[in-house]
Amino acid sequence: MITTSLDTAIDRLRELIDSSDRIVPFTGAGISTESGIPDFRSPGGLWTKNRPIPFDDYMASAEAREEAWRRRWAIDATFAAAKPTRGHLALASLYRSGKAPAVITQNIDNLHQVSGIAPQAVVELHGNTTYALCMDCARRHELPPIRETFEATGAAPDCSCGGIIKTATVSFGQAMPAEAMQRAQDLANDCDLFLVVGSSLVVWPAAGIPLLAKRNGAALVIINREPTELDEYADLVVRSDIGDTLGPFITH
Ligand code: NAD
Ligand code: ZN
Repeated sequence: MITTSLDTAIDRLRELIDSSDRIVPFTGAGISTESGIPDFRSPGGLWTKNRPIPFDDYMASAEAREEAWRRRWAIDATFAAAKPTRGHLALASLYRSGKAPAVITQNIDNLHQVSGIAPQAVVELHGNTTYALCMDCARRHELPPIRETFEATGAAPDCSCGGIIKTATVSFGQAMPAEAMQRAQDLANDCDLFLVVGSSLVVWPAAGIPLLAKRNGAALVIINREPTELDEYADLVVRSDIGDTLGPFITH
């Protein structure tokens, strides 16, 4: 069923949530737009202006790294000011209720963790842009000291091991995190309700995960104001605002 009626969507969603024991939310950029972080497709969005920097270029070229960090600082204020949205808060409520064991996300903004979901229960398919990692020894680095060095010298520091530091996101051409992919697949294989929230489902292999859930007998719900690639497989498609749809599910 495809619905643009908010009341129908909320009623149907409540029935599905009430009759499910194990719910797996799967989120994309759309859950965060209410916080001021633009999604991938919004015209003039921070992401559409620039050609992505492939992983190999980042590792091979100091100039590419400089450009990547410049772009990261350009979005820093937006990310720092962002607060969890009604969508995040509703999913955190489901998590607290015990019905949602974890959340799978394509987002890199850390807002699920900020909303109160334990970090180990947030399965990040595309990493996290709020901190950095050494590409050699995998040590975690915080961004403020990197920015300080960058602003003083025009380049980010290297790790104490000599390795190159990069935000903890998955760049184009970089391998998907194997553990996160495996956990996402396991969650999809073992749930009775799979809840896609704010993803156009065009980015693979992430977009294949809802299909796994469907194939294993879960009900598939897609909440997204635009049509997605998987609407035809869904039991319920809600083409309404995410905050308006999930707001009634926030419990405190
Ligand atoms: P996308 O931009 O392709 O799709 C987002 C979808 O959300 C769109 O179809 C849009 O119509 C819908 N949407 C936006 N706001 C909405 C609202 N308030 N209510 C209902 N629907 C709404 O995003 P994607 O599928 O996540 O793929 C983009 C990739 O870019 C992701 O893999 C992610 O890694 C990255 N990204 C992350 C962030 C973030 O961390 N917040 C932001 C932009 C891009
Ligand atoms: Zn290192």
